[in-house]
Amino acid sequence: MSKMGTSMGKTESETENNRTATSKTGTAMRTTDGTESPVRLYIVIPCYNEQEVLPLTAPLFRQELQRLEDAGRITGDSRILFVNDGSRDDTWRIIQELSRQDPHFQGLCLSRNRGHQNALLCGLMEARDRCDITISIDCDGQDDIRAMEQMVEEYFGGAEIVYGVRSSRKTDTFFKRFTAQSFYKLMNSMGTETVYNHADYRLVSARVLKEFAGFKEVNIFLRGMFPLVGFKSTSVYYERNERLAGESHYPLKKMLGLAFDGITSLSVKPIRIITGLGVVISLVSFLLILYAIIAWITGRAVAGWASTLIAVALLGGIQLISLGVIGEYVGKIFLETKQRPRYIVSERTEGME
Ligand code: UDP
Ligand code: MG
Repeated sequence: MSKMGTSMGKTESETENNRTATSKTGTAMRTTDGTESPVRLYIVIPCYNEQEVLPLTAPLFRQELQRLEDAGRITGDSRILFVNDGSRDDTWRIIQELSRQDPHFQGLCLSRNRGHQNALLCGLMEARDRCDITISIDCDGQDDIRAMEQMVEEYFGGAEIVYGVRSSRKTDTFFKRFTAQSFYKLMNSMGTETVYNHADYRLVSARVLKEFAGFKEVNIFLRGMFPLVGFKSTSVYYERNERLAGESHYPLKKMLGLAFDGITSLSVKPIRIITGLGVVISLVSFLLILYAIIAWITGRAVAGWASTLIAVALLGGIQLISLGVIGEYVGKIFLETKQRPRYIVSERTEGME
């Protein structure tokens, strides 16, 4: 699945074996009486404090929509749906203005900042009953907008989910590249199923979203959840660009937070590791006890505070970490049991009522 390498513009349509368990009904050909008819597309874009970049990228999304329509792939009533994630700047005003000028632009405004994942989920859930397919993408122009064409082609080829995968990170700084790639490796080694180098640039059909709506959890990590829905999926490769304007909202601290949240939302492997660690330490302790008894019997026991100190400190540290990890899961259960809404929409542009 992590096959990399084809340059932008090419697609790798090998479908991952472990993801193809799906019936063919409705997936194979998008045809009515044998001809491929255009589908209704919603491009879903979460925005948080993006007043600098939105005026630059909105026309690019609009162009791509037009190109797809002209190519006969999507219908004229396809839409670009911005989700304003409680921005504190002029982002919502810009979205409202865009939708006033051109009905292809639509907007939802969340009542407060809920984070990228919740904002995206909101957009997808709102779009699901209004369209045939959705494509989610960030609003900063980092992900190659033109890769949408290949995504749509893959959909017509039968895929229900198409993951956009970065084929290289040449434009990222060494630090961003290193931390981001460590992120994917950590995620996978901790038992979550994520597509390597795939963020949230993805085509998802309305059919998959209808099933996905049954995933009610409040701790969401979308890129790790869509593989769990199943259906036929494939990847499209593209080059990642630099942000057109504004600044990243994912500094190292937030990225680590996202990784930790993703792991503890999707996998119990950390708890298993703790259990394993406990077993190993218990075995070592058992040997140490034997040694101590023998030393005591043979009269070689000395007043060794160093070994005592080390044992106490080491075990104390490990226990605290373990408690922390377990506490993280308890905290997740706490949040899940409350079943609070994952987002609240406070305003809508015309057409999204
Ligand atoms: N975003 C959001 N809510 C937040 C943070 C970010 O909706 O609390 C959006 C942001 O506007 C952008 C996308 O999520 O469209 C990705 O954010 P960013 O580009 O800052 O992350 P990076 O690409 O650097 O990982
Ligand atoms: Mg970005």
